[in-house]
Amino acid sequence: MNINRLVTTSLLATVSFVLFIYPAPEGIFYEILGVIVFVLIIAILFQFSTSEPDSLEHEESENHGESLSVHRSIMIREDLQDQYEQLVNVVFNMITAINDNYQAAFYMLDGSGQNLNIQFSRNEIFKNTLKIDNDILQTILNQNEAVLFQQSDVREDWNELFVEKTWRGSECVFGSRVLYKNSPVGCIIIQTDHFSNIHERDRVLLTSLGHFVSMGMVKLDNIEKLSLDKYFHYQIANLLNSLDIKSEVRGVYEKVRDLCRTFFTYDKLTIAELQSDGRNYKVVMQDGFTDDVDQEKLYSITGNIFGKIFRSKDTIESTNLIEDFYEKGRFEDGDLEKFEFNSILSVPIHVNESVKYSITLERQRPQKFSTSDKNLFELLALTFGSIISWKQQYGSMRDSAMHDGLTDLLNHKAFMDRFGEEISRANRYNHSIVFAILDLDKFKRINDTYGHLYGDYVIREVARIIKENVRNIDIVGRYGGEEYSILLINTTIETIITVARRIIEKIGAFPFSLDNIDVRMTISCGLSGYPNDAENISDLITKADEAMYESKAQGGNLVTVYEKKADHTAGTESNS
Ligand code: GH3
Ligand code: MG
Ligand code: MG
Repeated sequence: MNINRLVTTSLLATVSFVLFIYPAPEGIFYEILGVIVFVLIIAILFQFSTSEPDSLEHEESENHGESLSVHRSIMIREDLQDQYEQLVNVVFNMITAINDNYQAAFYMLDGSGQNLNIQFSRNEIFKNTLKIDNDILQTILNQNEAVLFQQSDVREDWNELFVEKTWRGSECVFGSRVLYKNSPVGCIIIQTDHFSNIHERDRVLLTSLGHFVSMGMVKLDNIEKLSLDKYFHYQIANLLNSLDIKSEVRGVYEKVRDLCRTFFTYDKLTIAELQSDGRNYKVVMQDGFTDDVDQEKLYSITGNIFGKIFRSKDTIESTNLIEDFYEKGRFEDGDLEKFEFNSILSVPIHVNESVKYSITLERQRPQKFSTSDKNLFELLALTFGSIISWKQQYGSMRDSAMHDGLTDLLNHKAFMDRFGEEISRANRYNHSIVFAILDLDKFKRINDTYGHLYGDYVIREVARIIKENVRNIDIVGRYGGEEYSILLINTTIETIITVARRIIEKIGAFPFSLDNIDVRMTISCGLSGYPNDAENISDLITKADEAMYESKAQGGNLVTVYEKKADHTAGTESNS
């Protein structure tokens, strides 16, 4: 309850007291009736003051030691619902991209702060309401990093989260909290059937997904605070919905331009992007008058009005550019005199906390932009910044979701996705493809003798050698633990066999050395060709696998082509 409500409740209570209790009417019956009515009114008032949740209002509460006591609620206003759903959708697409086996749900605290209510899930396994008085949930809500639990360790708390009890024990949950103004307000919970499905890297990704949603909540809150034209809100929500998070950033510029054309009158619209050096900017979109800018050119952030916003990080407004600024140009020295612009409204755009873009309206006549123009324009800038931030986060998360953390090669899933694409492409253009699978020989002894860290080092070095010895267009993946896969594009086995031999020779000759421990390794390779050896991916893999095992059977350090006899390479004898 906030102060206003407390005051209102006390006032009404006093009035009721005067009305019903003082002066006391005759007789005990009236006195009792008076007290009952008084108590009833207080109860109703109290109920009234706590049952209506505050919109995005943050109420600090006492923190009792470790236990979490957040008494607040998030209600997303109807006109922001679309943006909220877009945010949540992005998160769920990301989770699937990270791992197909993940089942996820997104929960938010209710008004009492005692329950988590489900907001979104694509799976039926999660309960709709969870009591936060649960060790798993307490840990998730109190930790900054995503936390992992295995069912067998937390059986009772586990059963409170899911609709059905499960008894295998190998299941895991991951949880990542969502913050709003530094208080936990919800969490993303992910379940998977077996801990072997989880990669350590996923923890980092899930932590950043939690942060991603937290960031989105603050953005939505800011948008809501700028309570504005409903139609504009509607247009902005449309802007977000119509954008594909995976699309090019250029599409965002164009949509923003279209919105500006509808809502503002201007002679020139400019979107400028700060370069990574932090000293120069480029114009990435302009509308209306365009003769004054070269979009290829880098402009310095010092000495001109458009650069000023990257330094001041504040909205710029003026109806007299020449008098209001000491800078000698809009983009560069002298262009103030050359091109006659008088009025400007320029707003910085924050992407992940720092100013990355500016968006500017200009008029040639000295006609001020109205307060309503300014509010709408700032809201547009805020939304634009959110979209770019979400896009960037999505991009980097997708990138790490596709790559193996140890070797930086494509992981199994990403490799298989590419495999499918390349087969379609080969069909379309009548190309052939060679698939190679490589498996380190007697690798287990490396782990057993020198430890896993040494094993990791070997796996990483081998990945590097393979990558260095194929063409840029070829696709290299970490197929499994110490297995690698390569798709050699638009080529035949006859051409590529020398490449495969060179790779295993290089690995055989490489002096692995870490912490003064020197070892030699060899690797076995199997090759199959598409479309000659197989018609589909799984047959192609089976055949390359067969060929690779033939290499092992011959003692390793060998390249074997499917169906052909083992092809001995130099050094075989010394490595069996
Ligand atoms: P073979 O010559 O028949 O290939 O024998 P091998 O010992 O290489 O093959 P096996 O499949 O028995 O052993 C592979 C080992 O690779 C088992 C596993 O512990 C280890 N391994 C898998 N992934 C990793 C990893 O990421 N790091 C480390 N250090 N070891 C790994
Ligand atoms: Mg193996
Ligand atoms: Mg092996």
